[in-house]
Amino acid sequence: MRALVLDMGGSHVGCGLVEDRTVLETASIDTVAGSLEALLPVFVTSFQELLRRAGLQTSDCSGVVVGFPGIVDARSGSIRSTLDKYPDACDLDLAGWACEAFGLPIRLENDARLALMGEAFAGAGQGIDNLVMMTLGTGIGTAAMIEGHLLRGVHACAGNLGGHFTVQMGGRRCKCGNIGCAEAESSGWALPEIASSFPGMANCSLAIAANLTFADVFQHAERGDATALAIRSHCLDVWAANAVSLAHAYDPEVLILGGGVMQSASTIVPHIQRYVAEHTWRGMGEVQVRAADLGSSAALIGAIPLLMEHFGDVKN
Ligand SMILES: [Zn+2]
Repeated sequence: MRALVLDMGGSHVGCGLVEDRTVLETASIDTVAGSLEALLPVFVTSFQELLRRAGLQTSDCSGVVVGFPGIVDARSGSIRSTLDKYPDACDLDLAGWACEAFGLPIRLENDARLALMGEAFAGAGQGIDNLVMMTLGTGIGTAAMIEGHLLRGVHACAGNLGGHFTVQMGGRRCKCGNIGCAEAESSGWALPEIASSFPGMANCSLAIAANLTFADVFQHAERGDATALAIRSHCLDVWAANAVSLAHAYDPEVLILGGGVMQSASTIVPHIQRYVAEHTWRGMGEVQVRAADLGSSAALIGAIPLLMEHFGDVKN
């Protein structure tokens, strides 16, 4: 089975042409907050280029899949809400667009769920029926699978709001309306403000980094910068505390960690594994913490099980 896939992450859109467990071709489109409708012709051009490179036609594909960073109801094919990136997304007729542009059906899903589906199908979650995935990026995306069933819930939110568990009473205000969410206390969008609150930030080597990222923090921490080490430690503790809440909420066998920051998996995984082992409910047994296998391909490959579900090949 082949799919044309859009993975609409925080800072760019990944376009992919996927066949079963293999990503045949990809392209990355840099985006800024604004109209999704204005991007649709760009996506069409990009998909045409990917098909041309692979020597394939749209008729060789089974469908178009979109992983979107918001509340998405895959069953009705609708985007229910989006925070601030593509305010017009809820009102667009994406099914009509996919039909007109490619003659193909479309499936929409939350990007974190799609990444979990990919890891379950071809990555770190293969053969595991009880999984949670936490993607650490611009925000914190989560998704959960229990006894082989992907959680969606009546409002399509189930499993997806795990980045908004409270980890700090009276903490920072989050974009979601809550206070002290894991995402507000340790995510890409919040990082510059978090870092600026650390004493010593103005005089440390990180101060020169424009648009501070986790890559900057981990790099400077590796070099022994005391402030970078303190910020890294804070972020690791937030993710670890959130991982315990995820384990308590969903009772997984395996917790998969994804996102660009997992370039530093050798620091992150042991820290969170240790914290989870020490702080989860004793009777739960050990929850294994693993780095994602598929990197930025997870959501692209997740398109295949989502389409299989569409065509009735699997349950959920
Ligand atoms: Zn929040």
